[in-house]
Amino acid sequence: MRIYKEFFFEAAHFLPSAPPGHPNARVHGHSFRARITVDGQPDEETGIIIHFGELEAAVQDAKDALDHRMLNEIEGLAAPTLERIAMWLWDRLHNRLPGLVEVVVARDSCHEGCVYHGPPMRLAAE
Ligand SMILES: [Zn+2]
Repeated sequence: MRIYKEFFFEAAHFLPSAPPGHPNARVHGHSFRARITVDGQPDEETGIIIHFGELEAAVQDAKDALDHRMLNEIEGLAAPTLERIAMWLWDRLHNRLPGLVEVVVARDSCHEGCVYHGPPMRLAAE
């Protein structure tokens, strides 16, 4: 079973990989939506996988770090694509949310999004 929490943030960015003259090479903004999903089994007694308050607190910290920011200036987001933002959120949240299984970052106005299930599993022998 999985539960999730969504949050929205507004942020500016530019894409260093965009060709000169391309609109994405210039500073512009988006309304982003993110969804953080945690997998688990509800406790027999409480019926809870993880308190939504706990999920919300973790998500709020991430939102505060992104909302109304210039994403390129955030450590780890020099190239702030949807993919990188999803990875950044994963790196920031996975220790705090042990059941984390999915991070979605979307620009709904562009009908675009990225779904991330974490880094590839390492082989046990490694
Ligand atoms: Zn953009």
